[in-house]
Amino acid sequence: MNMTTSEDFKGYREPLISMMKAFGITVWSEVVARTTQGEFEGLVLPRSETADPLHLVLKLSSGYNIGLRHDTIEELSKFGYRKASYKIPEKEFPKDPGKPRVKLFGTGGTIASRLDYRTGAVIPAFSPGELYGSVPELAEVCNLETEKLFGVFSENMGPEQYLILAEEIGKAIRDGYDGVVVGHGTDTMHHTAAVLSFMVQDSPVPIVMVGSQRSSDRPSSDAAQNLINAAWTAAHGPIAEVMVCMFGPTSDRYNLLHRGTRVRKMHSSYRSTFRTLGDIPLAMVEQGKLTPLKEDFKPRREDREVTIQACFDERVTILYYYPNMQADIIDALVEKGYRGIIIAGTGLGHVNRTVYPALERAAAQGVQLYMTLQTLWGFVQMYVYETGREILELGVVPLANMLPEAAFMKLSWALGLHPDDPQAVRTLMTTPIAGEMTPREPHDGYLVFQGGIPEMKDFLGKTWS
Ligand code: ASP
Repeated sequence: MNMTTSEDFKGYREPLISMMKAFGITVWSEVVARTTQGEFEGLVLPRSETADPLHLVLKLSSGYNIGLRHDTIEELSKFGYRKASYKIPEKEFPKDPGKPRVKLFGTGGTIASRLDYRTGAVIPAFSPGELYGSVPELAEVCNLETEKLFGVFSENMGPEQYLILAEEIGKAIRDGYDGVVVGHGTDTMHHTAAVLSFMVQDSPVPIVMVGSQRSSDRPSSDAAQNLINAAWTAAHGPIAEVMVCMFGPTSDRYNLLHRGTRVRKMHSSYRSTFRTLGDIPLAMVEQGKLTPLKEDFKPRREDREVTIQACFDERVTILYYYPNMQADIIDALVEKGYRGIIIAGTGLGHVNRTVYPALERAAAQGVQLYMTLQTLWGFVQMYVYETGREILELGVVPLANMLPEAAFMKLSWALGLHPDDPQAVRTLMTTPIAGEMTPREPHDGYLVFQGGIPEMKDFLGKTWS
């Protein structure tokens, strides 16, 4: 007798249920699928209840899920059964009075995710306590106390969350923690790192943001290594700044620490996605060893003094220049009440003549206008071409090598801090306070210190040896 239950076909409908029955497979069967598109080996996952009824979903050993359309399937042969459970139990962190205390704030993102087999989606589902449950090595590093502040993917982080996060970090510092880790989705981690660099100033301890590009149910996940290195940096590291701690090279050789105002996500899927732009990273960190790459960092202190200025004006935008931009775009922003515009201009800091009258009108209305660069590397230099000089005369202020996202966060923060004092905002914007503008750019910053040398050597070795 066939003893199948509805759990065995969870989420599947016809025609797939009949097909699965015919080949003697159920959900959680390990199968080889022969299809018109080739052969695939993997684990049959439950089907999302909201998805179409036409596909069988396999989790491949690479960690990726694929959907096989029923009419391409020629044969399914079962070679095993492996019921997966991705629920990691909450574990209480073992206390060791000899180790530093670190506070881990969870905000969500892939690092706090597991796969939801009902919908097939990666959802922010597990708490920082579960996070520890999955990475027990953390206990060797520090006494970790965790607090889930939010459970969102980072595209949903915004002013509301920034303000809470800044205040909570301030409290943790005053409560005597030796370091703070912030678990965060990678997509907007550099935005949050930048805004925290302005809202939390002169911290006596490290504030380390960490995420993962691949969720922890995948063999190639970077979650554990990133978390261990971030916790180590927060507990023992000498740098008391807001930093991002993520894979350096594409391999798992070491992590890099990037300054919060100079970092940017640069690749949609590589684990080594974060790069320091316009400078070199602050440090390398691997297996309990931190090697500073720069000397001008703010050092750890024993006191508990920290300045928290949690404010944010939402009427700021980034205007990414494109050829043939029309003046009405800028007029519309002014009409809608925007108080600040960060222009991401071409080359050394240019926009077309067509928008000049609108920029002039915006400046006359008291809208703060600043120039940054689409090239990301290099400095705004508006005295080189006539165009640049003309734009300066319209009232657009150059921001040296400040990244557009950092400039956006700084202006939102500065306008929040000084709502009625445009001159104070301007002074703040043109004075570096957290490494967002630097005197010069190292000539070898990108390749030498960011996973370049070992990977170039490997590449050259393979190609020409
Ligand atoms: N979309 C996700 C996020 O930023 C990706 C990640 O966590 O890396 O929250």
